[in-house]
Amino acid sequence: MSKSTSKAPYQGFEQGPIRPPSEAYSLLIRVTRNCPWNRCTFCPVYKGAGFSLRPVEHVKRDIDAVARHVDALKRMSDDSGQISRIDIDTYMARVSGSDRQSFHAALNWFAGGMQSVFLQDANSLIITPGDLADILRHLKGRFPWVGRVTSYARSHTVARISDEDLREIAEAGLNRIHIGMESASDEVLKKVRKGADKATHIKAGLKVIRAGMELSEYVMPGLGGRELSDSHARETADALNQINPHFIRLRTLAIPNSVPLFGEYESGRFEKLSDAEAAAEIHLFLELLDGITSQVKSDHILNLFEDLEGKFPEDKERMLCSVRAFLDMPPRERMLYQVGRRLGYLRGVGNLADARVREEIEKICDQHAITPDNVDAFINEMISGLFEDNLL
Ligand code: SF4
Repeated sequence: MSKSTSKAPYQGFEQGPIRPPSEAYSLLIRVTRNCPWNRCTFCPVYKGAGFSLRPVEHVKRDIDAVARHVDALKRMSDDSGQISRIDIDTYMARVSGSDRQSFHAALNWFAGGMQSVFLQDANSLIITPGDLADILRHLKGRFPWVGRVTSYARSHTVARISDEDLREIAEAGLNRIHIGMESASDEVLKKVRKGADKATHIKAGLKVIRAGMELSEYVMPGLGGRELSDSHARETADALNQINPHFIRLRTLAIPNSVPLFGEYESGRFEKLSDAEAAAEIHLFLELLDGITSQVKSDHILNLFEDLEGKFPEDKERMLCSVRAFLDMPPRERMLYQVGRRLGYLRGVGNLADARVREEIEKICDQHAITPDNVDAFINEMISGLFEDNLL
């Protein structure tokens, strides 16, 4: 792992490649580059990119640059927060090339209401707690109105931070952590080289909550393949029942050809679930979630049910019903739903009742000779194409 050094030259404002879907309007502040683990076999994001820490002073310079632009944007805006295109163009003409990125980040953030900040990249909690608290305090000093500051973190890292240090980080302003649990089946976790086991996931999750931060746990339906689907659903539900995170977020497995898992999939050693099998797995998983008060979110484009959202325990039955409705469909209806959902025509099973939308989807299925027998292959190919075009 590269170490930060205050002597490294500042390379200008930086932003990493991803953020959680729920952070679409957040200001992205890059604390570290890439992923210090980078071995998960299903993950395409940072492969081939080395991890490094950024010097605290450089992160602060990024924050200061955005703050400068935000001040200018505030001065340019009228009472309703609007800014004329001419004012923006005039200001931008004075911004030097190296400062353009921070200006664009500030402009997007300003347009999005400036309510939240997300610390990048994959595991900001790997830096020393004192440095992280220092950055968070600086952020708070520059943007005192911000209500939510969040970050990704690995369970393996969080489990090793003392409760005292985590509390200091929370007090300095970090109030939500997104953890990629993916699964809590030890067999699955080992196979996909997650670098954390079920006990570590539980320990880390409970620590985050104890420190007074919100916890968002990502679960990956399908990650166990056919062989481990049952254990994946059962163990993951069991871990989440013990943690009771604020959010459980679903992000379905996809296997683009850039990930190590693709080799196993191609050779037949990993059998990917069909959409119907994945839905059955999700049904079992939801059924087993018990005694929790978490919000379930399905805010990823790859998910088969975008409307699978609700709060436990009161919305559990409704969520189960919408998965059952898909499982109970005749094969042709199911196919129409799978295609319509993946092409963005539908959010949930109920939307298929719209005759106009249904006709569109039928037309597409006819044009591409999609049948109930080849629909999963069609969808896999379509999703791989989106990855290749960098659209996912
Ligand atoms: S820890 Fe996260 S970012 Fe890193 S390789 Fe695994 S899934 Fe990808």
